[in-house]
Amino acid sequence: MTGAVSVAVTGATGRMGREVIEAAADRDDVDVAAAVTRTPSAVDGAVAGVDVADAADLPSMLAASDPDVLVDFTVPASSVEYVAAAADAGVAAVVGTTGFDDDQLDRLADAADETPVLRASNFSRGVAALRRAVRAAVGALPGYDVEVTETHHNGKRDAPSGTALTLLDDVEAERDDLTDRVHGREGDAPRTDGEIGVHARRAGDVAGEHEVLLAGDENVLELTHRAGSRRVFAAGALDAAAWLAGRDAGAYDFSEVLE
Ligand code: NAD
Repeated sequence: MTGAVSVAVTGATGRMGREVIEAAADRDDVDVAAAVTRTPSAVDGAVAGVDVADAADLPSMLAASDPDVLVDFTVPASSVEYVAAAADAGVAAVVGTTGFDDDQLDRLADAADETPVLRASNFSRGVAALRRAVRAAVGALPGYDVEVTETHHNGKRDAPSGTALTLLDDVEAERDDLTDRVHGREGDAPRTDGEIGVHARRAGDVAGEHEVLLAGDENVLELTHRAGSRRVFAAGALDAAAWLAGRDAGAYDFSEVLE
């Protein structure tokens, strides 16, 4: 496709990998040049009409298909390997995977020294707006109790979600007196000063819901985002890929795409 940004999709058999491939098929500005997964036999070697190769062959796939951007929604351990392979091949990387530890984040930072890397815990424009609203509300309501609740499908691995962690960072950036993240409560557990309650629910096929509750005396404010489907994340990731192609090496943020 002339002028389209070509992407390589990892985790092509996963919920998000499939969604990215299907969303790309509906757009003119991106084109899937390659797709890989650990388990190509599980899908008879194709997803939505796109051939899917074994992820072990990713370096040779990148060399052969020469994509502009790798789009990764997998697990942290594989994500850092895939992004390193992209950096070696001179391919940019959009990373939607969540749950990285500090060592893995360091490895992504190393890759960003060599190639453009854009990582976001949430590629929904609605969540970008939620983050702005949360910062404004927390700043406007000093002393209020804050609790963050997220709900995701029953197959989600990391808890709390990467988006919840981002929202917690946003709250703490506005309120330096809130430093104690309390994950659920049980037994004799009254709230203490400095707490931010964090609650992770796992049920059914929920694509993703995040609520920030602010409560003071006789005032309660709830800010909630619900993803109607995973397509919103795929669309944002592909917007990010189209924006990232051709940029200089470095670490980029999804807010830059939206600006
Ligand atoms: P999923 O379980 O449906 O798919 C995960 C994919 O990773 C599958 O293709 C699986 O084969 C592959 N995988 C699993 N373990 C692997 C390993 N050890 N090595 C190589 N590949 C492996 O998960 P999902 O719902 O598609 O989510 C994937 C990631 O994306 C999660 O971290 C999730 O939190 C994140 N996510 C981010 C956003 C966002 O907007 N940033 C949105 C949704 C999901």
